Amino acid sequence: MPLLVATHNAGKLREFRQLLAPLELISALERVPDLKVEESGQTFAENALLKARAFAEASGLIALADDSGLEVDALGGAPGVLSARYGGPDLDDEGRCRLLLHNLQPFPEPARRTARFHCCLVAWAPDGRHCQADGVCEGLIAPAPAGEDGFGSDPLFFVPEHRQTMAQLPPSLKNQLSHRGRALRALHPLLLQTFPELR
Ligand code: IMP
Repeated sequence: MPLLVATHNAGKLREFRQLLAPLELISALERVPDLKVEESGQTFAENALLKARAFAEASGLIALADDSGLEVDALGGAPGVLSARYGGPDLDDEGRCRLLLHNLQPFPEPARRTARFHCCLVAWAPDGRHCQADGVCEGLIAPAPAGEDGFGSDPLFFVPEHRQTMAQLPPSLKNQLSHRGRALRALHPLLLQTFPELR
């Protein structure tokens, strides 16, 4: 039985397939192309659950959804679940990075710029069985953007062990370290336990 991935993002689907092989994953675009779910939850887990349940009920398949974002300690955990919407609908990734740097101007010392990427994954079956896994990746917000790879806040997210931002790291290393990679590796055994029919 295939697992439906509740995303329209081809990059995420590729990453999920690599890390959950040999499970058969299919894209939401193939089964429920028009379903959109409002991310109205207060936490990553609530949003991932809303999406996984809606896609499972609409498709009749076990559905896997994720929600992720950046938590900056000096900003009380912001932008958090609002990461993709930080600063309002007129900003793009570059604008959101500029806004984050502006908001961190009162905190120039590296010790005050601690942050983490957080990813929550939820898999939900139409009969209500479900499982969840989280992954985090700790780092610091750099004083200025650096690097060309990645997306979102990657150019500002400095990984101390590698002395580079996420956008400077080779994609294979990013997948190894990233919040999404960690959450997927934690989820894999839980998926097989919760849904033996996926084996
Ligand atoms: P979503 O979970 O795809 O909705 O991502 C939410 C937002 O969090 C993105 O738009 C980015 O701003 C940020 N984000 C999540 N994961 C990453 C990542 O791996 N790199 C950079 N930014 C990320």
